[in-house]
Amino acid sequence: MQTENEVVVLRLGHRPGRDNRMTTHVGLTARALGADRVLIAGDASNPKETIEDITDRFGGPFEAALTDSHRQLLREWQGVIVHLTMYGLPIQEVETEIHEAHSNGPVLVVVGAEKVPFDVYERADYNVGVTNQPHSEVAGLAVFLDRLFEGRELDREWADATHHVVPKETGKQVEPVDE
Ligand code: SAM
Repeated sequence: MQTENEVVVLRLGHRPGRDNRMTTHVGLTARALGADRVLIAGDASNPKETIEDITDRFGGPFEAALTDSHRQLLREWQGVIVHLTMYGLPIQEVETEIHEAHSNGPVLVVVGAEKVPFDVYERADYNVGVTNQPHSEVAGLAVFLDRLFEGRELDREWADATHHVVPKETGKQVEPVDE
């Protein structure tokens, strides 16, 4: 079920084993940079579990789910669909329109693994390039979300964490969260 103004990331083309790390990073990046949910098409139970473990430890709300009906999701999505691809329009040319669309409803952000089927290009309201150079779904998603939220996601508060990181100039400190 969709909710008002939510930002959902759809990860297409996951290849079990080979893409586990990238798919996990798509989910972790979606979570860290302000999206509400990641939906992973295909058999990606390992990435889903890792994303959920991190959410349990470091907080949410954030949801990870697998889907075997991404075509139906794309068909029925009530809101704007943004497909990130090196072949798309430069993000700096379309971000204002996408902001406006987001202020009126939810956004589905689609990222691929290898080749994304052409019907996704046709269904998307915006095919968006974060540069028109080949790089990665994780990098594209990070830049896109930061532009969408205009940096506000960096100050996000986390709920229901068991642990949090204490920022340090040098060294590592992770502490349990007081009840
Ligand atoms: N030829 C593919 C394409 O359509 O962008 C490159 C595949 S790339 C290994 C995997 C995913 O990274 C793509 O499906 C796309 O979502 C994302 N990606 C790669 N380069 C991008 C760029 N310059 N801008 C936005 N997304 C990009």
